[in-house]
Amino acid sequence: MIVSQAVASTNVADEPSHRFAIDPGLRLRLQKVARSGAAQILGHYHSHPDGAAQPSKTDKAGIYEADLIWLIAAVKAGQMHDIATFMPWADCGGFDEIEIRES
Ligand SMILES: [Zn+2]
Repeated sequence: MIVSQAVASTNVADEPSHRFAIDPGLRLRLQKVARSGAAQILGHYHSHPDGAAQPSKTDKAGIYEADLIWLIAAVKAGQMHDIATFMPWADCGGFDEIEIRES
């Protein structure tokens, strides 16, 4: 799989400094593109300000789609310093870290 585009979403979570939620309107628009065969949604990304690039308990509790890759960026003092990617388990009960690389 090759990521050709990353689309930023407004964080529509009730507490955006502690949680994330993708704009459902954006998600629907991207799903329409995917259904046309022009692209595929591979996953989503979010950051952990002053946290680690590891899934939080909230992240683990928020797995609803086992086929979407999660990219988590650790940010300190406004600068990204680490990223990691994870694939949910088939039962959505947790994650396995997966490797990504630049092509
Ligand atoms: Zn998180």
